[in-house]
Amino acid sequence: MAYLNATCEICGKKYHRCDTCDKYHDKFVSWKMYADCEDHFHVFTILRNLFLNYLSKSEAKQALQKLDLSDIDSWEDNENKKLVKELLSYNNRPTNNTNRQKYYKKK
Ligand SMILES: [Zn+2]
Repeated sequence: MAYLNATCEICGKKYHRCDTCDKYHDKFVSWKMYADCEDHFHVFTILRNLFLNYLSKSEAKQALQKLDLSDIDSWEDNENKKLVKELLSYNNRPTNNTNRQKYYKKK
């Protein structure tokens, strides 16, 4: 019987994790360990890589944009949701700002 025995690390929703699958974890790491769906597991991985500095903010943004995050508004209000929204609206600062500053300094 499917009962809800786990909580998604990303959206905070309860889901069922099959404990029988845990037996095979030495061979096969299931995304169901951390998330209720594969896209949320990818979010989890991206955020972890960002914290470990394996990804820059703009790389994390690019990776997030490849996922289906249309359900983000139904996520629990948590740090992950805040961070994902922040990353999705992240803009690389245009480098011509410094040129403009130089221009004004000359005047
Ligand atoms: Zn989830």
